Amino acid sequence: MNSPDSEPHERGLRCGRILTMHKDRPLLEDGMLLIRGERIAHAGSYRELKKTCSGPIEDMGPGTLAPGLINAHTHLELSHLKGRTVQGQGFAPWVRSLVQLLPEEVNQASLVGAVDELKECGTACAVDITGHSPERVYPLLRESGVDYLLCKEVLGFSPVKSLREVWPRSLDPDRDSRISLSGHALYSTHPGNLQLGKTWANGKKRPFPLHLAESPEEVELLTTGRGGLADLLRAALLPEDYVAPGISPVQYADQLGLLDKGTLAVHCVQVGDRDIRILNERRTSVCLCPRSNAAIGVGSAPCRAMREAGIPLCLGTDSLASNSDLDLWRELVFLLETEPDPISLEEAVGMVTVNPARILGRYPELGTLQPGARARTSLVPPEVVQRLA
Ligand SMILES: [Zn+2]
Repeated sequence: MNSPDSEPHERGLRCGRILTMHKDRPLLEDGMLLIRGERIAHAGSYRELKKTCSGPIEDMGPGTLAPGLINAHTHLELSHLKGRTVQGQGFAPWVRSLVQLLPEEVNQASLVGAVDELKECGTACAVDITGHSPERVYPLLRESGVDYLLCKEVLGFSPVKSLREVWPRSLDPDRDSRISLSGHALYSTHPGNLQLGKTWANGKKRPFPLHLAESPEEVELLTTGRGGLADLLRAALLPEDYVAPGISPVQYADQLGLLDKGTLAVHCVQVGDRDIRILNERRTSVCLCPRSNAAIGVGSAPCRAMREAGIPLCLGTDSLASNSDLDLWRELVFLLETEPDPISLEEAVGMVTVNPARILGRYPELGTLQPGARARTSLVPPEVVQRLA
């Protein structure tokens, strides 16, 4: 039995409104969280809970307190490329400029700065994709205090016989359940390699992110084998005998068996009604990256149609190679500015809390402020509240 001295430290957090994201009591007016150690013990009104708190009560003021944010798509290893890629001219020029910069190794200062940006906006967890610098990103994430899912990216058309070829020494997925694989994209990676990664992820019950239907050039390449992206990749990545599948990215991913509820489809800008139906039938979640899409110039995702279909939506900043910062609240503000239909507070905040927590298999520990959840919080900025229904 614990002696009284070893009881977890108790404290209270009071705020004008607390968005618990719990279905029974989603919004607490003049709310309070009673926190023991790292976990929420009770969530209720200040009046109910003030007398039961044995520790200090911090008053956060009249704002709205939400669960800690989950950034569903980043690439921290590209943080040193902020402001250095070609933007606003479409996907192929952006990729060309990125590829030219890739030999340059990420420096510690830009990595640390990027993690600081995550923390400053109240990020509790980030889904980070690593291709070439896991040995730099992984230790930093582990000691950062930001929870994570770190995905080693599968990329390239050389057929992989065993996943042992894919895992770097610095990542041991058997020792850390917060490590998974991700597929780079249909246009850049051998379909068999994508299937191998997806099968592994399903076997481990871990999420499998995949860049999907990001740009018009991706659609052109997959449907016709031609276009700016095909020209760029034919020189270095696409095999000489490459034959385009002749169907849309979502339909091709489905044909390969890559879509199910464990897949996080990232971007999904170029999707039509049939694609949305497939995503919905497969119960695949979608991560929108609206500012990255706007910066590169690939269009904007049909958010309204996906919302109407009931597809679980998350938000990601993508990397600093296609965004100005890693502030997920700013990502949400941008989405709300560009989305013509009204969105409620719960639905909007759900995209950066509950929805990604579910796909990560971390609900309700993350993404909510209910008893038992981790005591990670973020204040909703006024710019978000002003734009809500
Ligand atoms: Zn990405």
